[in-house]
Amino acid sequence: MRARGALALASRETAQGASGAGAAVDSQAIVKDFTRVGGTVAAAGVEADVIVVGAGPGGAATAYHLAQSGRTVALLEKARFPREKVCGDGLTPRAVTSLVAMGVDTREEAGWIRNRGLRIYGGGVKLELPWPELASYPDYGLVRPRLDLDHVLVRRAQGAGALLYEDTAVTGPVLDERTGRVLGVTTKDGRTFHAPLTVACDGVSGRLGLAMGLARRDDRPMGVAVRRYFTSPRTHDDHLESWLELTDSDGRLLPGYGWVFGLGDGTSNVGLGLLNTTAAFANTDYRKLMCAWTATMPREWQFAEQHATGPVRGGALPMGFNRTPHYTRGLLLVGDAGGAVNPFNGEGIAYAMESGQLAAEVVAQALARPEGDGRERVLASYPKRLQDTYGGYYTLGRLFVNLIGHPQVMQAATRHGLKRPTLMRFTLKLLANLTDPHHGDAMDRVINALSRLAPAA
Ligand SMILES: Cc1cc2nc3c(=O)[nH]c(=O)nc-3n(C[C@H](O)[C@H](O)[C@H](O)COP(=O)(O)OP(=O)(O)OC[C@H]3O[C@@H](n4cnc5c(N)ncnc54)[C@H](O)[C@@H]3O)c2cc1C
Repeated sequence: MRARGALALASRETAQGASGAGAAVDSQAIVKDFTRVGGTVAAAGVEADVIVVGAGPGGAATAYHLAQSGRTVALLEKARFPREKVCGDGLTPRAVTSLVAMGVDTREEAGWIRNRGLRIYGGGVKLELPWPELASYPDYGLVRPRLDLDHVLVRRAQGAGALLYEDTAVTGPVLDERTGRVLGVTTKDGRTFHAPLTVACDGVSGRLGLAMGLARRDDRPMGVAVRRYFTSPRTHDDHLESWLELTDSDGRLLPGYGWVFGLGDGTSNVGLGLLNTTAAFANTDYRKLMCAWTATMPREWQFAEQHATGPVRGGALPMGFNRTPHYTRGLLLVGDAGGAVNPFNGEGIAYAMESGQLAAEVVAQALARPEGDGRERVLASYPKRLQDTYGGYYTLGRLFVNLIGHPQVMQAATRHGLKRPTLMRFTLKLLANLTDPHHGDAMDRVINALSRLAPAA
């Protein structure tokens, strides 16, 4: 078989046709068909400016922003949309900002349920704190099942011109034999995709990063969380709800932290998580723990077996940049693939989308330079910008995670702290990373100064 090397004009429909999905076509992109790789005949493949592996929030944001800057993007996803992703489904104002940056309509008429703040249970106290009023973030959060959210986001990426390949599981990088640089990826069904740059957005498994020798760092926090959906009269809750202390029916303290988020569709997402700094982390039966906790809830909330709409499902939360460096030899890491979950509150969607946007900016600038040192200099700025933006804050988060790993510290903090509203408003800003970088109030200035002073994670 000879290399065809012909330029084919492929629309989004063509790419979707390969994956079977059908949606309107409103833009076109040039992709190159080829059958020859590095001098040896390979299965037919696709050539693009950038390959994005994984179409969760990180991948969709990366692909959207790159496509917006005029690049041809092949977005490869092993699943088919709509697809489930185990999550709490909660979006803070930080995540809303990233949705807005992708042109997502976040009005309630468009199917979103808004929340006004955080309700906290702990130390025998219930406290409602509104989201802070800031220039950088709106004063509302959202909740939307990931089954839906991720589909909305991936459609935005397609709308911008990214080519989505569903049912396309990436098996590994294609490497330049001489330099070890990533030239593309191979897929389970035998296809090859080529691009000068690849962005790994493949989630907590971090398979692509791992294949490039980027192992998970043990000196960074890790969480495990489980969730379950119940039909519940609490479905229209206008607050995200966080439980700082979990107990069983006999009032015994259980390990972990919980949440209850109303989805506005008749159900609530109820879940709990543990950090690896907690002694109980390794030997906990999460299903049992969930049952023991929900059994203490008021009956009318309906968080009981007969009202569950599915099983308890769980996953890991890679925190505080637990896979580094975020750029190596033609590969950038985004979101969970780079361990970008906020150690303070377990929020990962906003950070996946933000790091995706940042990666897209850097890649667009890099591709505008010829291959070589100049381009590499731009690419090397990606990990630096991540460090500058989140490094100090994540270091504080690691300290926090170590502290609350001791139940006595957590108990003392909830018992004394929750009764002090000003302290709690400060804590909310700190935990949710919601401050204005310039011209903020005194709380913002303290948090920003602490983050600047702490060594980058
Ligand atoms: C129980 C639980 C509750 C959580 N609750 C919240 C919450 O309420 N709010 C919040 O902000 N965060 C929450 N998180 C964290 C959040 O889910 C993640 O941080 C977020 O999904 C990260 O986005 P991502 O795009 O980096 O990765 P993912 O969302 O994991 O997306 C990765 C994508 O890559 C695809 N993929 C993987 N491997 C391959 C491959 N080899 N080839 C092709 N495609 C591949 C996957 O199918 C997937 O679509 C929670 C996590 C858990 C486990």
